[in-house]
Amino acid sequence: MVKPNRAYINDLARQRILRLFALAVETIHTDPALANRYVEIALRISMRTRVRIPKELKRNLCRGCNSLLYPGITSRVRISASRSPHLSVTCLNCGSVRRYVLNKRR
Ligand SMILES: [Zn+2]
Repeated sequence: MVKPNRAYINDLARQRILRLFALAVETIHTDPALANRYVEIALRISMRTRVRIPKELKRNLCRGCNSLLYPGITSRVRISASRSPHLSVTCLNCGSVRRYVLNKRR
């Protein structure tokens, strides 16, 4: 059996993941279920090929139910100044909340 070309597979997987996320964002307005199906496929490709989902795309995923978080449709985004100022993103599908601290010093 021919050894699979790792670099080629990784590149192909990355392209497919990006394309599936783009499709998910396009369809979220009309068919959220289909958008989540695209995300599901992208996650499966990522797991099977062990290619990471880019950080900026991972931010758009719910940690609780893996659905695509789109402000106004599947997520609620609020800025809060209490305690340390933070951004809270609530998933409207399962209700899980992610918080991002603002003005973090590096
Ligand atoms: Zn969720």
